[in-house]
Amino acid sequence: MLLRPAIKFSAVLVFFAALASSQSLTPEQGKILASVNANQGKSAALLKQLVNINSGTLNPQGVRRVADVLRPQFESLGFSCQFLSMEEVHRAGHLVCNREGTHGKRVLLIGHMDTVFEPDSPFQNFEENGGKTVGPGVADMKGGLVIMLSALKALNENHALDGTRITVFLTGDEERPGEPLSIARRDLIEAGKHSDAALEFEGGVQIGGRDAASIARRSAYQWSLTTTGKTAHSSGVFSKSVGDGAIYELARILDAFNKELHETGLTYNVGLVVGGTKASYDPKTATGTAAGKVNVVPAQAQAVGDIRTVTDEQYQRVQDKMRQIVSQHLPGTSAEIKFEEGYPSMPDTAGNKELLRELNEVNRSLGMDIMEPLDPSRRGAGDLSFVAPYVASISGLGAYGAGAHAPGESIEMKRQPDQSRRVALYVYRLTR
Ligand SMILES: [Zn+2]
Repeated sequence: MLLRPAIKFSAVLVFFAALASSQSLTPEQGKILASVNANQGKSAALLKQLVNINSGTLNPQGVRRVADVLRPQFESLGFSCQFLSMEEVHRAGHLVCNREGTHGKRVLLIGHMDTVFEPDSPFQNFEENGGKTVGPGVADMKGGLVIMLSALKALNENHALDGTRITVFLTGDEERPGEPLSIARRDLIEAGKHSDAALEFEGGVQIGGRDAASIARRSAYQWSLTTTGKTAHSSGVFSKSVGDGAIYELARILDAFNKELHETGLTYNVGLVVGGTKASYDPKTATGTAAGKVNVVPAQAQAVGDIRTVTDEQYQRVQDKMRQIVSQHLPGTSAEIKFEEGYPSMPDTAGNKELLRELNEVNRSLGMDIMEPLDPSRRGAGDLSFVAPYVASISGLGAYGAGAHAPGESIEMKRQPDQSRRVALYVYRLTR
């Protein structure tokens, strides 16, 4: 822990040294970086304002208030903005801001306005104490939104946004997407199809004390398994006429999953199990109910879980294996497995690798860490996964922090200027 502040401090020194020598920075690029530095005070004030607005995913008014604060900020930079209501999937909606131009890559900047902290959470306020800055969503990802704006402002101040083609897409339901996803992510996917590079502002991550980026992520899908048996007096269990019952069938399948599904890059989890004479699961509240008697062969059982894979090919293959296991019923039982829609995997394509290479050129110019690709299992699936099948994609350009999704979530404020400079120069070079 002692090492990290020292690295940060030296990064600032190296930055100024790079500015002075200007080896790989043009005078225009130097001015942009100076603008980032000059707007840090305002950026910090904006962060505080955003964090103090509760925008839990299920608090649509709050999410809209965050959009109301952000919208004029983007409009003042020459973007035209639209709020896409997502009432039909019971979510606030998305803020989409667009800048039409003629040159450079069409860049898509992806963020989210919601947090996991709903109005009933005890964790509501931005607070600074003893050098620590905490708040709900301060790093995930209001700090990232501020980095995005700070970089764009610096570019605009130096007329470097002129003629660029940039779309900012901020979802209002990243932490708990509305369903069906085919509606909730329809517009984001469209934006991805019309872009050349997608940059996501989820939190910065380090490997062994050095900054890293994500160019591959695993998929995340859900499955639900339902088994049935013949209800009868328990004395007849395993007999020809009664069979084994729904719970043994469920146990057989889960045990076979556990023994037969191991492969590199794959995880699958069973999250909840219910079984008895009557058993049901409600996905809306993530709760199950069951009733049964010790002397009655159970008629119903259900299990729900998730599955994460490195590629879609792996997902299809594992799905087939699971279906195969499910189909070998015990006597007197039946079973069915359903796979729900989810997040596609994001493999490390040539396009993604090229984006990382270009980012590392930026890092070289700034004297910052050369970023290694993060292990796909180290970052959960996110909004970027939806556009990754269509556009070169990279994540990890947001705030550095700790304890996301739990009270006490904190941000490393000292890293905000670093990351903003990195993003400013990156967007600048991508859009030439
Ligand atoms: Zn996030």
